[in-house]
Amino acid sequence: VTSVELTQAHLDRIAAVDGPVHAFLHLDPEGALETARKVDEDRAAGVELPALAGVPVAVKDVLVTEGLPTTAGSRILEGWIPPYDSTVSANLKAARMPILGKTNMDEFAMGSSTEHSGYGPTHNPWDLDRIPGGSGGGSAAALAAFEAPLAIGSDTGGSIRQPASVTATVGVKPTYGGVSRYGAIALASSLDQLGPCGRTVLDTAMLHEVMGGHDEKDATSLDEPVPACVDAAMQGATKDLTGVKVGVIKELSGSSDDGGEGYQAGVKQRFEESLERLKAMGAEIVEVSCPSFEYALAAYYLILPSEASSNLAKFDSVRFGLRVEKDTVEKTMLATRAEGFGDEAKRRIILGTYALSAGYYDAYYGSAQKVRTLIQRDFAAAFEQADVLVSPTTPTTPFKLGERLDDPLAMYLNDVATIPANLAGIPGMSLPSGLAPEDGLPVGFQILAPAHEDARLYRVGAALE
Ligand code: GLN
Repeated sequence: VTSVELTQAHLDRIAAVDGPVHAFLHLDPEGALETARKVDEDRAAGVELPALAGVPVAVKDVLVTEGLPTTAGSRILEGWIPPYDSTVSANLKAARMPILGKTNMDEFAMGSSTEHSGYGPTHNPWDLDRIPGGSGGGSAAALAAFEAPLAIGSDTGGSIRQPASVTATVGVKPTYGGVSRYGAIALASSLDQLGPCGRTVLDTAMLHEVMGGHDEKDATSLDEPVPACVDAAMQGATKDLTGVKVGVIKELSGSSDDGGEGYQAGVKQRFEESLERLKAMGAEIVEVSCPSFEYALAAYYLILPSEASSNLAKFDSVRFGLRVEKDTVEKTMLATRAEGFGDEAKRRIILGTYALSAGYYDAYYGSAQKVRTLIQRDFAAAFEQADVLVSPTTPTTPFKLGERLDDPLAMYLNDVATIPANLAGIPGMSLPSGLAPEDGLPVGFQILAPAHEDARLYRVGAALE
């Protein structure tokens, strides 16, 4: 097929199914077809092209894209058209990938269901009454509904992996600093990481290599080569894991005395079956314990709101987007923020400013940072016993839209297994591990590796696929 045919086929699919799914906030058919046309011309002329040239991609609306509306799912940025590209969107363009459009997300990436989008929720293509995960539910749903073959996500506490888990797709959170955050609208700068989403491990590996690499525009960007994700996926596809040690995280596996709570039976069953398959391919399975993970959620919900409240201070009615004009500057700011931010953003801004206020800083932010160190130490000890660590990605299959909207804590609990990786800066993958027998809905398998060792995820992931 030509790139124009491939791109048009996806645009047609979007036109046919995106009404009820609502994966996209904005489409760019002309731009995508134009890129595709040029790729086809160059291919016909014998020009050497990058591996993914002509393959369309959907981009989470957290990424700034020159000339295309960018809202991060918030009404406060409605109508804003950025004058520049994020490094990742520039990388996609350099790879000659047609950008289909921008995908829906929870406002500023705060959420686990995409219900906190200022533009209405995305629906899970497996069951339209259920959540597609969040915050990157739009990218995951676009893949699951075959509206895009590849997509970009961002993962601050699980927003790539949890949506992948509940839509039976693949999502990877790279090592912190492995992909440039320049031009990604920040949620919590010490936790945020952009990453690739796809339907297979190999597709995801190819996109990872396009996205990653050193960038002078991001002070936290790692100055090292992009991990050899594709080679590792090819190696994994041989289904030989002889010599690979896989550590089951006791506290997150749902199978131990203290980790079983809240884990759905079918999730545990599929997880155990995946372990058996790993064993059959020659991997050695060991159990590891990470006792500090008990405090991960609490630490995360102090660190994240603290950093988010600071990052969101720039939406002041002056520099970007919405402006609700009043008779003084202060009232204009207040009215703009009151109208532009949704409930979850407000909740986290209030939590964050409280945690950072004078006199409370040490008690809250300081303590949370100490927990973060303990979690890093738990991982370091666990990785002495195993090459990769595994758990179910989420304790349950996708819940119903609306079910947890009035109960933020229940919503936050969906992220217990994904958050530790962000606190430690390590890479993680979620890939499908079948459907739960009791409800026929997707179950995800999570693989974690030490920092800089992203390639291990692809080897083990491709073996399991
Ligand atoms: N669901 C988590 C939260 O609400 C993760 C968000 C994310 O990774 N962006 O914070």
